[in-house]
Amino acid sequence: MNSPQLSQTHTVRGSYVDGGWRQSAGGIRSINCPADGTHVADVAECTSADAEAAVASARKAFDDGGWPGTPELERGAILLRVAGLLQRDKAGYAAAEALDTGKRLVEAEYDIDDVIACFRYYGSVAGTDAGRVIDTGRPGAISRVVHAPVGVCGLITPWNYPLLQASWKVAPALLAGNTFVLKPSELTPSTSILLMDTLREAGVPDGVANLVTGTGPEVGAVLSSDPRIDLVSFTGGLETGKRIMVAAAETVKRVALELGGKNPNVVFADADREAAIDNALTAVFLNSGQVCSAGTRLIVEESIHEEFVAEVVRRARQIRLGGPFDQEAQTGPLISTAHRDKVHAYVQAGVAEGARLLCGGFIPDTPELGRGSFYPPTVLDGCKTSMRVVQEESFGPVMTVETFTTEEEAVRLANDTVYGLAGAVWTADASKAQRVSEALRHGTVWINDYHPYVPQAEWGGFGQSGNGRELGLAGLAEYRETKHIWQNISPGPSHWFEPSQAG
Ligand code: NAD
Repeated sequence: MNSPQLSQTHTVRGSYVDGGWRQSAGGIRSINCPADGTHVADVAECTSADAEAAVASARKAFDDGGWPGTPELERGAILLRVAGLLQRDKAGYAAAEALDTGKRLVEAEYDIDDVIACFRYYGSVAGTDAGRVIDTGRPGAISRVVHAPVGVCGLITPWNYPLLQASWKVAPALLAGNTFVLKPSELTPSTSILLMDTLREAGVPDGVANLVTGTGPEVGAVLSSDPRIDLVSFTGGLETGKRIMVAAAETVKRVALELGGKNPNVVFADADREAAIDNALTAVFLNSGQVCSAGTRLIVEESIHEEFVAEVVRRARQIRLGGPFDQEAQTGPLISTAHRDKVHAYVQAGVAEGARLLCGGFIPDTPELGRGSFYPPTVLDGCKTSMRVVQEESFGPVMTVETFTTEEEAVRLANDTVYGLAGAVWTADASKAQRVSEALRHGTVWINDYHPYVPQAEWGGFGQSGNGRELGLAGLAEYRETKHIWQNISPGPSHWFEPSQAG
C-alpha cells in the first residue's frame, strides 16, 4: 500500500493524563493495517497502574477543578471549537482511521464528518435546558429540578467506528460537565489519541479529558470497577457488556451499554424492488458487515424470494474488496484474521445446520487479498431463526435469508432475537409500514431505507442490545444526574412534634 499519510500516525504515545502524555511502564503494541499488514503506528500497551493514574487525574479535575461549574454555554463553545478543529484536520484523522481499520479512505472521511456533526450538535444544545420549576402549591416554597454532572466517566469503545463511537460519549460527557477516561479499542487507538490533542487545543482544561490505550482486561477492567468512577459507558460486544455490568455493580456505577444486534431487514412483495435489493446489500455489506446495526437478517416475502435473492447474490458476487487507498474497492477487510476466522466459523456452522451457501463463504488467498483479513460477501439461504448464524452476531459480511407469507409472521420473525438494536421494513403500503414499524421491538426502525441516522435522534437498543441511549437529548441525559432543590423562602417551625392541644 502506498500512502502519503502513513507517517501521520507513526508515533508512540503513552497515556494522556492531566493534560500531558506520559510514558507507560507497559510494552508497545504495533498497529498494523488489516488490509495488508502494513505497520501503521506503535502505541503504548498501558497497564492497570496507568489506568489508575488516569482515573485519579479525572477525579481530581472533577472534585477540585472548575469544569463542572463552568457555564454550559462555555462548555458548548468548546465543543463547537472541537468541531472546527476536526474539520481543519479531517484529512489526517480520516487517514489514521482508514489505516487502523482497513476501511476505505472515503468511508473514513464520512465517519469524520459524522464525528464533527456530533460535536456540533452537542455544542448547539448547550444552555437550552436548565431543568424546570415545579408548582408545589405551597406559598413560599420554590422547587426546582436541575441537572448535575454524573462525575467521572469511564468510556470504553470498539474498533468498527473508533472515533465516531468515542464522540457519541465524549461530546455529551463534556457538555454535561463531567470528566472522563477514554479507553479506545486496542486495535484502533490512533484517532482517539489524536483527539486528546484536539480537545486540548480547543480549550478543554487539563485533567478533564484523559486517555489510556491498552486491552480490556488490563485497562477496561479498571474503568468498570474502580470506585472513583461514577459512570461507565461501553460500546462493544454482548459478552463484554455483561462482564462490565457485573464489575460495575459492586460500586453501583451508572452503566450505559451499546451492544450488538441481529437486525432484521423485512421486505414485502410490494416494495420498490430496485431500492430494496440495492439497500439489502448496503444494509449488510457496508463496512464488511462490521456495523452494529447491519441488516444481517433478510426476511423476504415468499412470493418474491427466489427472484429477489438471485439478484442479491448476483450483485454480492461483484462487490470488489480492497484496501483503504484502492480506488476500485467497494469495501474493506475485517479487522483481524482472528475475527475473520470467527466469521468463517459462523458460516460453516450455518451450513452444518442446513443453510444453503449461495455465495462467499471462503477465505480469499489471492496475492491482492491474501495478506489482509478479507472475507467475501456471503449469502446463506434457507435459514431458520433457531440457527446460531441467525441468532448470534458474527459481525461480518454474512446475510441470512428467511421467508414469510403473512405480515404477522414477518413481525414474529423480526422480533425473534435476544437483541433489539435496529431493523427495516420495505413496502409501498403506508399503513402496513406504520403497523410493522410500530410492532418491531428495535431501537431504530427504517421504513424504505437502511442505515441513515442523525445526531439529534436517539440511538440504542431494546433487549440485550443494551441499556440507555446515545445521541439526542437522551444521550445527554445519560451524563446528567437529576437533582431536586426545595427552598423555603419563609422558614418557620413545622409543629409536627408539638404536644397535642387536644384534651
Ligand atoms: P469488544 O466487546 O470485544 O470490545 C469493546 C471494548 O471493550 C474494547 O475497547 C475492549 O478492549 C474492551 N474490553 C474488552 N474486555 C473488557 C473487559 N473485561 N472490561 C472492560 N473492557 C473490556 O467489542 P469489539 O469487538 O471491539 O466491537 C464489536 C462489538 O461492538 C459488536 O458486538 C458490535 O455490535 C458492538 N457495537 C455496538 C454499537 C452500538 O451502537 N450498539 C456500535 C458499534 C459496535
